Amino acid sequence: MRDTPETHVCIVCREPKTSGIRIWDQFVCAACEREIVQTDVEDEKYDFYIERLKPIWLDKIS
Ligand SMILES: [Zn+2]
Repeated sequence: MRDTPETHVCIVCREPKTSGIRIWDQFVCAACEREIVQTDVEDEKYDFYIERLKPIWLDKIS
């Protein structure tokens, strides 16, 4: 029997991925994490990422 790698649905791209980071109980895939890190704050994509991540942060702060 072969081990099937555990997949998690990325909260940014909404795709099941095997590698990435966990932010609290949520998952961000490696590709999206890299994208977020490289995205300039001025970039409109940055807002998109923040929008996706905001519910987690708000959930943990409150
Ligand atoms: Zn992703």
